[in-house]
Amino acid sequence: MEYEKELEIGVRVVQLACCLCQKIQKGSFGPNPDLVVSKLDDSPVTVADWSVQAMISWILSESFGRENVSIVAEEDTQTLSDVKSTSLLASVVTTVNESLAMAPRFGLNGPTAPLEASEVLDAISRCNSSGGPVGRHWVLDPVDGTLGFVRGGQYAVALALIENGRVVVGVLGCPNYSSKRKLVNNSSAPKSDLWQEGCVMYTKRGSGQAWMQPLVCGDGTLEWPNSASVIQVSSIDNPVMATFCEPVEKANSNHSYSAGIAYSLGLRKQPLRVYSMVKYAAIARGDAEIYMKFAKAGYKEKIWDHAAGVVIVEEAGGVVTDAGGRPLDFSKGVYLEGLDRGIVACSGVNLHEKIIGAVYASWDSSHL
Ligand SMILES: [Mg+2]
Repeated sequence: MEYEKELEIGVRVVQLACCLCQKIQKGSFGPNPDLVVSKLDDSPVTVADWSVQAMISWILSESFGRENVSIVAEEDTQTLSDVKSTSLLASVVTTVNESLAMAPRFGLNGPTAPLEASEVLDAISRCNSSGGPVGRHWVLDPVDGTLGFVRGGQYAVALALIENGRVVVGVLGCPNYSSKRKLVNNSSAPKSDLWQEGCVMYTKRGSGQAWMQPLVCGDGTLEWPNSASVIQVSSIDNPVMATFCEPVEKANSNHSYSAGIAYSLGLRKQPLRVYSMVKYAAIARGDAEIYMKFAKAGYKEKIWDHAAGVVIVEEAGGVVTDAGGRPLDFSKGVYLEGLDRGIVACSGVNLHEKIIGAVYASWDSSHL
């Protein structure tokens, strides 16, 4: 069965990563005075981002052989290696070792002895592949939507496998997206029984299906395949009934442009503004029908912000293209090169055609 082992390891390690993130938020690994720091480009990064990247990199290397594993991931060790970051690095090392100690519960092998700081840094910096059109590359956003993570909103752990430029496996861990409840505006962590509420969605290319598991962080062990349920996109194709989602931050997408598109199509509902790739998850699960993102001219979308979400939406029955109607190209390295204007994900072709048409009709006057 092609990609079966990759999918299984991917789901297990993303489950473990979601657990790591929840335990950081609960303070289970000790207080984190350095929870949020700024990268050189001023974007936020936390102990969780580096810890998840180190842990997943280490597990993938152990599972598939270090020499076989190429990983394209968001974080590097620049800020962490800074001499002023000693306590930050110590927090990351503790967190990575605490989470790897839980690995057997998730059906994964942990290390025989705790990792040294140098091994943790090494695991993070090994994720420096730039992908491309040939071979296999894992694509990782350790914490997608760091602002959502920090603010108690939605965030995701996103892992995908690209082979010869095509996304073939996608795993999306959504720790604050209840497996039982619909997504609503400003969705944040449910107050009670936090560890049972999140979900992990996954698929492999060509399966014609996507699945969802509840998180198993609270107790028990992760069985494979466990009681996963099949997820499907919504069958609503009338814009009047459709829900559309978009990024929370205006800096990431032009809200007034998408509002214009929504108006011209007769969409009645207010947009669902959600941090992170949980927007793709909402389309795949049928909680929303449309996801639109129109970044500023010149902004280059990174593959780790889309790969896992795109394949899950597609296998769940949806459509994802750029705003010109062409498929996203994951073969050009770290960025989605050649992306036309924006990204449109829909539950079906009917809504998708209408949106692409509305973009063509309105673009010249949009001044984006
Ligand atoms: Mg990130």
